[in-house]
Amino acid sequence: MSSSWIPETENGRAMDQSLSLYIHFPFCVRKCRYCDFLSGPADSAAREAYLGALEREISLVPEFIAKRPVRTLFFGGGTPSLMEEDQLAFLMEALEDRFSLEEGAEISMEVNPGTADLEKLRGFRKLGVNRLSIGVQSFHDGELALLGRIHRGEDALRIFKEARRAGFDNLNLDLMSALPGQSPESWQGNLEIACGLGPEHISAYSLIIEEGTPFASMDLPPLPDEEEDRRMYHETGEILLSHGYERYEISNYAREGFACRHNCVYWTCRDYLGLGLGASSLIGESRFDCVRSMKDYLAARRWEDFHPEKILLTSEDRMEEFMFLGLRMTEGIRLAEFEERFGVSFEKIYGKISGKHLEEGLLAEEKGRLFLTERGLDIANYVMSDYILDR
Ligand code: SF4
Repeated sequence: MSSSWIPETENGRAMDQSLSLYIHFPFCVRKCRYCDFLSGPADSAAREAYLGALEREISLVPEFIAKRPVRTLFFGGGTPSLMEEDQLAFLMEALEDRFSLEEGAEISMEVNPGTADLEKLRGFRKLGVNRLSIGVQSFHDGELALLGRIHRGEDALRIFKEARRAGFDNLNLDLMSALPGQSPESWQGNLEIACGLGPEHISAYSLIIEEGTPFASMDLPPLPDEEEDRRMYHETGEILLSHGYERYEISNYAREGFACRHNCVYWTCRDYLGLGLGASSLIGESRFDCVRSMKDYLAARRWEDFHPEKILLTSEDRMEEFMFLGLRMTEGIRLAEFEERFGVSFEKIYGKISGKHLEEGLLAEEKGRLFLTERGLDIANYVMSDYILDR
């Protein structure tokens, strides 16, 4: 898969001055039963107040960050498609006042079926959104009801068709496997329906039951056993490959040229700025999060009020992240980039452990890149845990 969107000089050294922006919209129609994201229902006055605070945060972005050209912009949540067209217009104006968007920037928005129609999608497209990530999860009404989603299978089909009619030619469908009571056949059915629609991108994640969510304390139908779970996982790759989707990250598949550029920024440890309640940022060697309390967010008047803490990452922290995230991608990490970023040879830091995994057939090395093999991808967590450094 091409990674040509990463600018490189002639000697292959990454020279990426561009920035990715994430905008968090923390509101949903109601809370899904498995969800532990920073999101929840709120009335329209609360949403308006939030957008006002978000505009303030945008206007306060320090100049040394704001002057960098924005290559990708991602509206996530929550359910950003709950915004009305004029609210998105308001946000886009605030963003364009503070930042310059590169020509051809990828502008994505998460959309939930049941929260947008053709007219709204046309409006979003007109405002510059050029990629939609549709939270389908399943096409089965029973599975959707169990998850606590607000939509039915037919709503997902309808919004996909409306997105096409609205002019979107870059669509992702989010699907979720290993649901309580889900059989491998039911999961295959979901994949086949998704492939039949022909989106450019499919994300296929397994359900993780998080503590503190209703799912964690509910009496649920049995989860697929380990054998069924493995079967679903392997069939996902086979079915999607047979429909022309290439796996480029552990849980993400795309047609040639349609990898999500924004998410690739996270996996390649490039700089991103997250704006909005609880959003995370990585700028150079600093990681900082926006406040998570809505009260504090609405009261914030200075950049420091929005982002009271900053963590300076050590070289070890950054090396580990470079490995953990980079190995999630099927093209893996570029060995020369490790040395350029950290000024130390890869061999010296990770030579021994990589040698062991190369021998075991869990990693492979080709054209200066180190990546997980099919077998390695199966037990990626085990391989990655070996890249934690002694402090
Ligand atoms: S729509 Fe998404 S963010 Fe909102 S509650 Fe459901 S899973 Fe969570």
